[in-house]
Amino acid sequence: VGTKLYIKYHWQSQNVKQSGVDDMVLLSKITEDAIVENLKKRFMDDYIFTYIGPVLISVNPFKQMPYFTDREIETKCPVCICVHTYICMCYACGTYNPIGESGAGKTVAAKYIMGYISKVSGGGGKVQHVKDIILQSNPLLEAFGNAKTVRNNNSSRFGKYFEIQFSRGGEPDGGKISNFLLEKSRVVSQNENERNFHIFYQLIEGSSAQQKEALGIMTPDYYNYLNQSGTYKVDGTNDSKEFQETMEAMQVIGIPGDCQMQALHIVAGILHLGNISFIEAGNYGQVESPDLLAFPAYLLGIDQNWLQEKLTSRKMDSKWGGKSESINVTLNQEQACYTRDALSKALYARLFDYLVEAINKAMQKPIEEFSVGVLDIYGFEIFQRNGFEQFCINFVNEKLQQIFIELTLKAEQEEYVQEGIKWTPIEYFNNKIVCDLIENKLNPPGIMSVLDDVCATMHAKGEGADGTLLQKLQAAVGTHDHFNNWNSGFVIHHYAGKVCSGACKPGIKVKWLNRHKKHQLKFLLFPENLNTDKKGRPTTAGSKIKRQANELVDTLMKCTPHYIRCIKPNETKRPRDWEESRVKHQVEYLGLKENIRVRRAGFAYRRVFKKFLQRYSILTPETYPYWRGEEKQGVLHLLRSVNMDTDQYQMGRTKIFVKNPESLFLLEEMRERKF
Ligand code: ADP
Ligand code: MG
Repeated sequence: VGTKLYIKYHWQSQNVKQSGVDDMVLLSKITEDAIVENLKKRFMDDYIFTYIGPVLISVNPFKQMPYFTDREIETKCPVCICVHTYICMCYACGTYNPIGESGAGKTVAAKYIMGYISKVSGGGGKVQHVKDIILQSNPLLEAFGNAKTVRNNNSSRFGKYFEIQFSRGGEPDGGKISNFLLEKSRVVSQNENERNFHIFYQLIEGSSAQQKEALGIMTPDYYNYLNQSGTYKVDGTNDSKEFQETMEAMQVIGIPGDCQMQALHIVAGILHLGNISFIEAGNYGQVESPDLLAFPAYLLGIDQNWLQEKLTSRKMDSKWGGKSESINVTLNQEQACYTRDALSKALYARLFDYLVEAINKAMQKPIEEFSVGVLDIYGFEIFQRNGFEQFCINFVNEKLQQIFIELTLKAEQEEYVQEGIKWTPIEYFNNKIVCDLIENKLNPPGIMSVLDDVCATMHAKGEGADGTLLQKLQAAVGTHDHFNNWNSGFVIHHYAGKVCSGACKPGIKVKWLNRHKKHQLKFLLFPENLNTDKKGRPTTAGSKIKRQANELVDTLMKCTPHYIRCIKPNETKRPRDWEESRVKHQVEYLGLKENIRVRRAGFAYRRVFKKFLQRYSILTPETYPYWRGEEKQGVLHLLRSVNMDTDQYQMGRTKIFVKNPESLFLLEEMRERKF
């Protein structure tokens, strides 16, 4: 394995024509301009990958690169070489985390990794089955979880962490997907030039005549959930063909035929549900055309009268003379619309969870050994008006940046100090302060905490909730450097830019905003489900996301994370289009300059003496089968007998630090020859 690795590494660095520098640790001047210039040169020469030590930078080419054909992916795609190195060298857990804006190429990078893992290594039996599922999970989850947005025609609207488990022989034989933050609001409304989730259009374009009849499929403009944005088609996408692929994927994953049909029933049922409208009759919401109730009720397998009742009334617990009873309260027109949409969103989210579960069941493995995780979340987003979902996504991205800083900048520097390695400290912006602003529990409470509090008292306060929220935020974090209060919203200064939540620019008319005008910020506050927190209050969507984000961070911190920093070179989605100022902005906030500086002084590899001795003991007779003296001396003996350059390593207090990976590959190669 060591030799293969070594050859691969050199094959890559020798046979590929050079353009700029491929590892920016080698840049002669470390300035943001020099970084941008190097990336540009390489981009124009069709080199989309550049390193900073182990961190991979990928610039979206917006075109198929010639070297990503199936045959060559293994030898030429650095992402894959890096995964390969990983699978070969350490039997522990590692993760691959693409980070970048929407449309920067995170999902494509994640797919390369998954595709690569399912192409290398043997096949047959369970392994082949798991590989097929890894590959097929993409079209299935993309159909239900991706959509056209202004920034990306195939934008992931959910986050996932895909853990691929390996056998002792290094073959993928199991896996598990955790999904989070599905953008449910998209089911019921979309901004101009955007679409609902792909599956709706796929079903309409791709279903057979028989299916269309059974599901009451009309043209997309017939459905309220599709006709608000005025966009039905996506350049370069064949919805009909993709529908076949989606169904094929369900088949491979092993979803039984009747469940496949039920899934389609729910998709069509949601479309029909969206066409139920309400009129206001004496302060009450009434279904406008009751004949439109029958079909969605049939598709969803529920009673039509029951559906009507559920849409126009709400059960409320009331305390009366010490006794508690539940009564039915009739809703007004606006509340009825809200209830209909809430039902559609909940149905869709359940369906999505069901699909993820089906994939997980098909890949389940009794004992988990070592795994490679691939994270793919949706990127940092700034719209003119940002809802709760953007708030959450940006928070998760902020956390990811925080792990990156913790692990590559802070931890690295701290370790040098601890180990007594010669070192000049580097200044960098630590975004922990922004994470705290959002998630602090106390002293001062962060934004999430304030939201929870206001939410708990909202029912008592009624309409004043928005004002209360802004007041409380002002009181709690008003003086924070990364926070500003506006009269109708607030601004968070994220590491990647300033983002307003609520209606921050008065005068901007967004259809969605008008419909929810009275709610303004209240959309931030609706309880997610009936679980309760420690104080017995219903948990909010916010607290759930905070929990999920922290679980994710814990998982990533436990594994060895590898980063792919994705850069979006333009907003036009065209190849060879380079917008200098956009790239520079990303280079700045991704902290590439600091990254290079730390790396320059840094060491690619470090191991505690004992582990190092164990792995390379076979290289000298004195260390084989084990070294009898002090461990540090053993390591030195080993390094001297293989003639490693003295400027290539430093001895710390407990660990050896090696500068370049090549030095290590040489050791690996020698070790291999001995066996
Ligand atoms: P993100 O997940 O960061 O939002 P995607 O990975 O979906 O972005 O990429 C957006 C689009 O950019 C893709 O649909 C594809 O057209 C193009 N793209 C991204 N990365 C590559 C790549 N490595 N090669 C070719 N095209 C790419
Ligand atoms: Mg994506």
